[in-house]
Order: sequence, then C-alpha cells, then structure tokens
Amino acid sequence: MDNLADLVFKLVEAARNHEEYRDKECINLIASEGLKSPAVKQMLCLAADLEGRYAEGENDREGHVKKRYYQGQKYMTLIENYATDIMKNLFNCTWGDLRLVSGTHANLATFKGLSTAAKNRKMVVTPLSCGAHISHDYAGLAGSVLGLENINHVYNFEEFNIDPDKSADVIRAAKPGIVTFGGSLFLFPHPVKELKEVCDEVEAYVAYDASHVLGLIAGGEFQDPLKEGADFITSSSHKTFPGPQGGVILGNAKDQRMEKAIKAIQFAIFPLSASNTHLGRLPAVGIAALEMKLFGAELAKQTVKNAQTAGQYLYENGVKVVCPDKGFTRSHQIAVDVCDFGGGKKIAQDLEDANIILNKNLLPYNNQNDRDNPSGLRIGFQDVTRRGFKEGDIKHLCDLMLSVIKGKRKPSEVKEDVIALKKEFNQVKYGFQSVEEAVSYVSKA
Ligand SMILES: *Cc1c(COP(=O)(O)O)cnc(C)c1O
Repeated sequence: MDNLADLVFKLVEAARNHEEYRDKECINLIASEGLKSPAVKQMLCLAADLEGRYAEGENDREGHVKKRYYQGQKYMTLIENYATDIMKNLFNCTWGDLRLVSGTHANLATFKGLSTAAKNRKMVVTPLSCGAHISHDYAGLAGSVLGLENINHVYNFEEFNIDPDKSADVIRAAKPGIVTFGGSLFLFPHPVKELKEVCDEVEAYVAYDASHVLGLIAGGEFQDPLKEGADFITSSSHKTFPGPQGGVILGNAKDQRMEKAIKAIQFAIFPLSASNTHLGRLPAVGIAALEMKLFGAELAKQTVKNAQTAGQYLYENGVKVVCPDKGFTRSHQIAVDVCDFGGGKKIAQDLEDANIILNKNLLPYNNQNDRDNPSGLRIGFQDVTRRGFKEGDIKHLCDLMLSVIKGKRKPSEVKEDVIALKKEFNQVKYGFQSVEEAVSYVSKA
C-alpha cells in the first residue's frame, strides 16, 4: 500500500488535474451542473471562516432566525436572514429556508413536514422512469427513508408530461397528503394549474421540485410554480440556478394551513435532519441570486433557445431527439434516443473520450431494469450558455458531437477541436467577475 505522504501527494495532484480537466479542457453538458461566476467563487473563499461554524436553532414564520443555541452569532444571524430575504425577494414569496445542504435534504424536510402536517402518508409522484428524482420514489428517500406510500401520476409518453385528466382521477381516488411535480428529466412545464383544484379538493399539499429549473424560473422562462398554485418549491441551488451546492425551500405563510406546514418543515430541518447547515455557502447564494435578478432573464432565454437549437439541429441531422412536434424542449435540457448508434452508454463514453461530458439516461419507454444500458442521453445547455454560446456556436458543437455519434471521426481527434473551442469560451457571462464588482454595481443602482 502507498504510504500516507504519497497518498496525500497524489490526492492534491488529482484535485489540481480535475480543475484543469473539467474547467479548462472539457465542454460540460451535464444537465444538473451549474456554472458559478467568478464573484460567486470568490465569495465562497471570502466566507471561509463561516464554513466552520454552527448555527443550530429555530426560525420564525418569515424564515428569519428566532433562536440559536450557541454564542458568537451576531453576524451569522444577519447573514442567514439577509440570504433568506434575498431568495424570498427573487422568488416573490414570504417564507424561505436555506439551511438545507442539498436538494435531497430539501425534499426530506418538506416531505417529512408535509406528511406530518397533513397526517397522511400518501404522496402522488411522477414515476421514476418518467423523470422524477430518486428522492421522490419508494425505492429512495420517500419510501425507504420516510416510509411514504407512493402513488404514480399517469404519464403520457408522447407528451413527455403528466396527463392532467388521468392524474386528477388518481389524486381524487388516492386522497394523498402530498402531490409532487418537477423532475430530473424535465422538458416541459408540469400541469400544476390544471391539477391545483383537485389537490385542494382532497386537501393535499402541492410540492414542486424545481431543482433543475430554478434558474429558469428566476429568469421568467419557465412556469412559476407558486403562482400556478404550488404550496412549496423545493430545490437545489446549483443546477440552472448557478449558486454553490445546497438546497432551498420556498413558500407563502399566508394562512393557518401554510403556517402549520411551515412549522412542521422547520422541525424536520432542525432538530430532525440538520446540525451544521454549511453556512459558508450563504453569502455566495446571495451573489448568485443578485446575478439572476439582473441577468437571469437574458441567461434563461438564451439557455432555452440554445437547447431548442441543439434539438432541432441534431434532429435534422438524423438523431432522434424526443418531442420534435413540441419543439423538443422548453427547459435547459433535451432528451435524445441514440439506440441506432449503439445506445446511451456507448455514446456517452465516446463523447467523454472527445472531452464532451454528458450523461446516459433511461427514457420512459426503455426497459427500466436495464439501468446500465439505456437508449438515451440527457443533454443540458446551462453551462455552455453561461460561457457565451449562441445558436451558431451550438451548431458547431453539435457538428463535433455528430461526428462522434455517427462514428465519422475518432473521439481522440475531435478532442483537440473541443479543447480549442473551450479556449474561446473561457469566461463566465451573465454575472460578476468579482465580489467588488457586484457590490459596486449594487451601490450605484
Ligand atoms: C438533483 C435533484 C435533486 C437532488 O439535489 P441534490 O442537491 O443533488 O441532493 C432533487 N430533485 C430533483 C428533481 C433533482 O433533479
């Protein structure tokens, strides 16, 4: 076995190599990975002390600090309150909680809290095979950790969406405590408006998991779940929302029913599931939120346009992109069926060999037991868009991808072109280059 010094040397070397490889040499099309601005990254460094602190305790109905159990909190309490207020402002709601360390943690606290508040363990969810996150599923957090009983929305494969009429029947019959929307393979807005009434009828809380699309919602390019009738947004803060890795829950404390739910969710956060809450990310969340307030509309618009452009171009060039008659997508991602070219596993690996990074993905109609050999790819355009890709650049990137997918060029050859292309787009747009720049922008405004 290697000795300790040797292992540490190799560890540091691998960390450095990773930065060079993924940040400088690869083009990232993984739909769940956001791209932080230099200002957000710098804020993370500047908050290094905060990263080591504790702030256990209770929050109030505005999401502000009510009680903390340790001393030394005077600035930390301000930081928690300001960061929470910034997110409430951006998403136009009266309550928020940023103590969640991930999107899964946000779901844990929300599902636990809502099943307690509703005194009902049934939850209607999108089937895992149709794009829900594992945390919604009986095989994951919802079932295996929280013991909730899952009932599936009816999914329409052609529409790549929940069938509102059939799901209304399911909800009416099941009388669940929670109905969820949102997902990980998520091309089109879910029918929240259409199902709000039946959810009210059976007194179910509506939880919308915006992990993938939070930045698009902030930019006004995707459905606004709270406006359409969702009681809560649960989300990660690092996919299309370009903050540090973490989680958030948002809602409106507008009546007794909501206040009861918020209290139960807060209890599910502390003391049930969090001790330290990774406070070091909070100032950086605030900077990312400011960037979304200022540049989010433009960024979200271009992101969706780029995804649609890629869908159209790949489709015209003989690759089966799903939902051609629906414009391929209204989010940052497209789903592609590459079974004609050797399947998702092979193509994802070939593209990795060309330094284009994305993930293979099961499509709703695939054999769900064959996780390792799906026919699909999920491709996200939030990272390249933030680096400044416009439609022409997307087509150029698609040409490189097509040459690999169709086996026309060796991945190792294409890799050189990918590295060169990446070099042209080495700046992060739609954001600030430093904390100083963000602060001076705000103080002038
Ligand atoms: C990514 C994702 C999550 C989990 O977020 P983490 O921060 O990775 O825990 C939850 N729900 C959906 C729909 C997601 O796509």
